[in-house]
Amino acid sequence: MDLRQLVRDVPDFPKPGILFRDLTPLMRDPRSWQEVIRQLEEVCERLQPDLIVGIESRGFIVGMALATQVALGFVPVRKPGKLPGSVTGVDYALEYGTDRLEIISDALEGGPRVMVVDDLLATGGTAAACAELVEAAGGKLCGFGFVAELAALEGRRRLPEEHPVESLIIYT
Ligand code: 5GP
Repeated sequence: MDLRQLVRDVPDFPKPGILFRDLTPLMRDPRSWQEVIRQLEEVCERLQPDLIVGIESRGFIVGMALATQVALGFVPVRKPGKLPGSVTGVDYALEYGTDRLEIISDALEGGPRVMVVDDLLATGGTAAACAELVEAAGGKLCGFGFVAELAALEGRRRLPEEHPVESLIIYT
């Protein structure tokens, strides 16, 4: 099954000059989406996480589907100000300015092995910040799972090299 046939290329989104890889047609097709989750389940079997962490917002869709499939808990990592109670955060640099990711402070209590999941790896800034956050909150990172990766942006070079980075569809 060629999953990339169901990824839609949208030029000039969200800004002029950017070619956005839209995964929603893949999500809309039940057999293809089941295949996505099945392949990520294989990644899980290799990484042996105790918990799945998904990055807002498309990482919630992928991460929660995977967590349910493999019967693990799911923890959301969110943009600032969205999570209730005590939170732990990290700031990270964007092309212009900075952004921040947060997690509920005690969500990784006990030091679980954490697999970080998102829909797509581009420059790697978001996933690298999430990795830092997982460690800051007491989790033990065991690797990353992405549905798609834009390899030309070399995002995996920004991720901690000791952990596996697995992407199902790689755009070279
Ligand atoms: P990075 O921080 O690696 O540059 O960007 C990755 C984040 O931006 C992910 O959370 C991902 O959802 C989003 N993103 C960036 N480019 C694309 C794209 O072309 N398609 C999709 N679906 N998400 C993208």
